Amino acid sequence: MSKIYSTPPTLNRERRFPDNMQAAHALALKAKQGRKGNRTGERYALPAFNVTNIQGINSAFTAFETLGSSGLMAFSNSALKHMGGGDPLFGLEVASDYVARKAARSSVQVATHLDHGDYISEQGRRVVQAAVSALTSVMADNSTDKVNKAGLPLEDNIGYTREVVNMAHPLGVSVEGELGVLAGEEDEDTKSDVSTYTEPDELARFLRETGVLMLAPTIGTMHGANKGRPGHKVKLNIPLAHELLKIADGINDEIIFVAHGASTMYEDVRDYAVEQLEALGAPFDGTAQTWKDFVGTDWEQIKGLIGAGFCKINTDTENRQTFLAALLGAVNKNAAKVDIRWYEKQMWDAVSASYIQKLIMAGNYGVWHEPKIDVEQFVFDLHSV
Ligand SMILES: [Zn+2]
Repeated sequence: MSKIYSTPPTLNRERRFPDNMQAAHALALKAKQGRKGNRTGERYALPAFNVTNIQGINSAFTAFETLGSSGLMAFSNSALKHMGGGDPLFGLEVASDYVARKAARSSVQVATHLDHGDYISEQGRRVVQAAVSALTSVMADNSTDKVNKAGLPLEDNIGYTREVVNMAHPLGVSVEGELGVLAGEEDEDTKSDVSTYTEPDELARFLRETGVLMLAPTIGTMHGANKGRPGHKVKLNIPLAHELLKIADGINDEIIFVAHGASTMYEDVRDYAVEQLEALGAPFDGTAQTWKDFVGTDWEQIKGLIGAGFCKINTDTENRQTFLAALLGAVNKNAAKVDIRWYEKQMWDAVSASYIQKLIMAGNYGVWHEPKIDVEQFVFDLHSV
């Protein structure tokens, strides 16, 4: 590990990315400052959608372009493996190339982000290094050792994160750090059972010594589909979030907080899935119960976080749930339809609608052009997708 001997490099804002692409930080800063077109208004947020293939990218673009939103697509290590036929580096090439081509013909500006980049293991490090040259933003998640599943000492987290900043900032690629341990499953390779809050004292030191402009503090959110027990939703520590924001703004008011595990549970999606499972009959009774037990984070609480500077909110579970619910609906509608495209259209149209719903909730519309739909009138209902 390299020694920390000078101030971290600042983000190179002169970097020119392919047409209509920007560093995630540039788009998130615009959101923190409430800028849309030439106007300045209320703070909004960028939902980061975890995409896993070409259709997912297309669905995300459909949503961004419908609303004139700032777009953010995140790729996890396992998603890159999935896209690359087992090779995350090839997946990275395919993903970044496709997004750049898609962005070039888009009406909005987008960013690409490596989710939970692991700079500790040898293999993870190769992906982070490749992502720095292929994407516009990377997460250097060094708060836990993914292989040994243990929290990492602060010094090590700072050291590893700083190495990524040294490499990424001169290229204009923004870096997101993580401070504290978030409970739940992040990815198939990364999970932890306990969650710890970010310590305010450690925050200032981490920000100063790493130079990151984006940070995921832990304030009570959880990864996965069960954020608490049924009937007992997780409670986020919003006062702590505000305390942390004050410290961060005191160091640099361009620092963006990131909420992980911020998926809400769309009750209509859950009800739709249960309805479909009940129509499929007795063998699916247990599955219907599993669906009934899913718990998301309350949107009201997430909204509180946006007020506290969390302008990147990671949402994955809710879109996976939407995909699965739509798949169940498609089977019920026509299980003899021998047409891959028809099935895919059912699922991806639903996911697009799920994205549109979240972008509206986050206030991220009308940024690059007026929305093409009446935002007030939009109803997210899988029966009508
Ligand atoms: Zn996460």
